[in-house]
Amino acid sequence: MSKSPQSFLLFPPGSVLGILGDGQLGRMTALAAARLGYRTHVFGTSAEAPAAQVTNALTCAAFEDREALARFAEAVDVVTLEWENVPTDSLAFLAERVPVRPGASVLRVAQDRREEKTFAASCGVPTTDWESVNNAQELDAALVRLGRPAVLKTPRLGYDGKGQVFIGPTKAAEEAWQALGSSEGILEAFVDFACEVSVIVARREDGVMAAYPPVRNIHRNHILATTHVPSGLPPEVEAEADAVARRLAERLDVVGLLAVEMFVLKAPDSEGRRVRMNEIAPRPHNSGHWTIDACACSQFEQLVRAVCGLPLGETVPHHDAVMENLLGEDANGWATLLQDPSACLHLYGKTDVRAGRKMGHVTHLAPRLSGGPFLLGEAKA
Ligand code: AMP
Repeated sequence: MSKSPQSFLLFPPGSVLGILGDGQLGRMTALAAARLGYRTHVFGTSAEAPAAQVTNALTCAAFEDREALARFAEAVDVVTLEWENVPTDSLAFLAERVPVRPGASVLRVAQDRREEKTFAASCGVPTTDWESVNNAQELDAALVRLGRPAVLKTPRLGYDGKGQVFIGPTKAAEEAWQALGSSEGILEAFVDFACEVSVIVARREDGVMAAYPPVRNIHRNHILATTHVPSGLPPEVEAEADAVARRLAERLDVVGLLAVEMFVLKAPDSEGRRVRMNEIAPRPHNSGHWTIDACACSQFEQLVRAVCGLPLGETVPHHDAVMENLLGEDANGWATLLQDPSACLHLYGKTDVRAGRKMGHVTHLAPRLSGGPFLLGEAKA
């Protein structure tokens, strides 16, 4: 019997949560689901993947495999995802058989930077200036309008700085276009930001929302290096970031989580605004890993609660926190990291070590002071 996708159902503990994607976000979602008494069924591509190692059941197949998707739908009560690039056709196919949260309409926006920015504008949320460019001539013309420096990006499937070309004062449009190596692009005006923040908001099907506080993110080589809580930003900037995230979650009608990455300008614009949306992700986010150790309810548990219709958990942290990503060989330093008895170490079970690959993270906690940002290392400067 097919399960109605329309119904406002509660999925109680004991239900089977289907998770599309088998990376570390799926792993931590499955662990949080298990804590609440749920069973999980991961749909991914490898039996060795981080989430495959901790789930009750596993389907290894391509996301386009309709037979595998149909079997998966039969085996689970509700579906969520840890990767926003699941084909929307596959999501729609699943949604005919089982509730899928978030749904295909949300992914259609989140999969394409042009759609994201157009959607943000329709909600009155500012982004940096941008233009669609589909060849070197269009790029050249757009550079005249937007100015330099600028950032050329692939509209789809870019992450951690992949699919991005920085265009400084002298780089030729032709050279930048060749470096992108894509048939379509988006040119963004460079934002000379004061800092980067993100907000993760959870939303249930009935519209109830809960947001974690804005956190400050420091990137190295376009990859998130550390997340700092509290952000140390003035309350009015935090309120602006929070309002942007809530508005987007509501207007997108997200059920689950929405992570919103934003730039904070050095000075307010002509309308008094300090925040520019950069991108959104309708899933758990790297900048929310600190919530596992510093909140009563982590972003992963919050996702399970939102998707299953349970009451949402506390989002006010009980500690200040710094989360440091462990990239590539960093994770081999686990023995040293564990010398600090209060370090909260998380390793994702990946065996293939590659430079820049997210292998784990470590969270350091401090009693809430909350006067300023809790910074480590280079971020202290
Ligand atoms: P993204 O994949 O868009 O999140 O970009 C990764 C990182 O590159 C961001 O977190 C920023 O640190 C930097 N970046 C991306 N786009 C811009 C921009 N338009 N202006 C300034 N920095 C940017």
